[in-house]
Amino acid sequence: MASATGLNVGNDRPVVTRFAPSPTGFLHIGNARTGLFSWLYARHFGGKALLRIEDTDKKRSTQEAIDVIFDGLGWLGLEFDDEPVFQSTRADRHAEVAEKLLAAGRAYKCFATPEELAEMREQQRANKQPMRYDGRWRDRDPSEAPEGAPYTIRIKSETEGETAIDDAVQGRVTVKNNEIDDFILLRADGTPTYMLAVVVDDMDMGCTHIIRGDDHLNNAFRQIQVIRAMQGVEQGWEEPTYAHVPLIHGNDGAKLSKRHGALGVRDYRDMGILPEALFNYLLRLGWGHGDQEEFSMEEAISLFDVSAVNKGPSRFDMKKLLNMNGNYIRKADDARLATMAAKLIGDHADEALLTEAMPVLKTRARDMNELAAGAAFLFKQRPLEMDEKAAGLLTDESRSLLSSISGRLQAETDWTIEALEANLKAYAEELGLGLGKLAQPLRAALTGTTTSPGIFDVLVLLGREESLARIDAQGAA
Ligand code: GLU
Repeated sequence: MASATGLNVGNDRPVVTRFAPSPTGFLHIGNARTGLFSWLYARHFGGKALLRIEDTDKKRSTQEAIDVIFDGLGWLGLEFDDEPVFQSTRADRHAEVAEKLLAAGRAYKCFATPEELAEMREQQRANKQPMRYDGRWRDRDPSEAPEGAPYTIRIKSETEGETAIDDAVQGRVTVKNNEIDDFILLRADGTPTYMLAVVVDDMDMGCTHIIRGDDHLNNAFRQIQVIRAMQGVEQGWEEPTYAHVPLIHGNDGAKLSKRHGALGVRDYRDMGILPEALFNYLLRLGWGHGDQEEFSMEEAISLFDVSAVNKGPSRFDMKKLLNMNGNYIRKADDARLATMAAKLIGDHADEALLTEAMPVLKTRARDMNELAAGAAFLFKQRPLEMDEKAAGLLTDESRSLLSSISGRLQAETDWTIEALEANLKAYAEELGLGLGKLAQPLRAALTGTTTSPGIFDVLVLLGREESLARIDAQGAA
C-alpha cells in the first residue's frame, strides 16, 4: 500500500497494476478514471501498467467496441505496457485452474440441476434467508450423481472466521467467511465464470495492486478465496493490495447514467474537450494535492497516491469541466488548436490564418466547437449569409451608419487594433452614440452573426480589404 511518503509499503514486489475494461461500446468516464488511477499508480512507482480487455461476453465484445477503448485511452495519453491481454483467449487456462483446485480438493463437482437450484432459492426467499448456494454437493460423493450427469465446479470456500481487506481507499473491510458461498468456477459447459477469469488473469499477469471501481469490492472477497486455495497448488498466488475507487455520481448525487448526459470518453472529445483537460478533470475528481487545480502529466505521476483518493463518491460537474477546458484551451499551442479547429470548420478553413487568429479566438472559447464556430467568420464568402439576429440588426438606419463607417475606415492608414479603436471611438463620440451602437451592425456585417471576438480584432483578422468589402456589401446603396 502506498504511504504518504510515496513508498510502496507492505508489498515489496515491483508494482504491477492493470486496467480491465469490458468492451461495452463506450469507455465510461468512471472506468476511464479508475484506468487513469491504475496507470498513474504504476508510473509513480516505476512499475508496469497493464491492460486487459474483458471480452468474454462475445455478443457485446465487437472489434468496434474494443477499438473504442483503445482510442479513448490513447486520446487521453495513457499508454500501457506489454501487449493487451484478451480475456477470451485464456479460457483454457481458467479451466485448468478450476481443474487443479478440484484435484487438490479445494473445489468440487456440483450436480445440482438448474431446477433444483431455482427451488432452493425460492425456499430461501420464502424463509427470508440470504440467497446463496447451500453447499449441497460439498461433501457428497460424486458417484451418487447419475451417470454422465452435467456438473459445475464450485470453490470450497472457507466457512469459519472472517476475511479482512486493508483497502487502500476504503480502509479495513471485513466479511465473515460463511457469508461467501461456494460459487461456481467452471460452468457445466466448461466455460469459466467471470469471478474465476478475473482472478486467474490478475495472478498470471503478476498484478500486485488491483485498483478498480468499488462496485467490485464484494468480488474481492470471493477472488481472495480462489487465491488462498491456489496458494497450496501453484507458485505465485499472492494476495494483491486492493484499492476500490468510488464511482462517479452526477450533479444530483445519483450514480452517473445516460440521464446525466455524456458518459463515454469519446462523447467528451466530440463536445470539444481537450484530452489534457479531461485527464486533469478525472484526476481531480476525488483526488487532490493541496488546492492545486491543474497538473501536468509529469506532476500527476510524481504526486499521485491512491490512498489519498476520497472514499465518498465524487460528483461530475460539467460546468467545472468546461471552465477547466477553457483554461487548457488558452494554454494550448496555437498551431495545434488551429489544426483541430480547421477539421471542425471544413475544407475551406485555412490553418495558417487560424493559427494567426488563435491568440484572439482562444480567449473566450470553453470548448473546441465553440472556438470553431467563433472562427467560422474568417472563411465566409461574400455576400455573407446573415443569421436571424444579425439580419434583425441591419435596419435602414444601421445600413446608412455602415456606409458612413466605411467612408471613415477607408481613410484610416493604420489598420491596427489601437488605431481602429481610437478612430471608431472618436466617431461614436462625434455622433453622440455609444460605441456599441456602431459595433453591433459592424459585427453583423463582418461576421454574419452577433457573437464574435472583439470587433477590432475582427477587423484586423479580416484585413482592410475584406473588412471594407463586407461592410460595403451591407451598407446603404
Ligand atoms: N471488467 C470489469 C468492469 O469493466 C472490471 C473488473 C475488475 O476490474 O476486476 O467493470
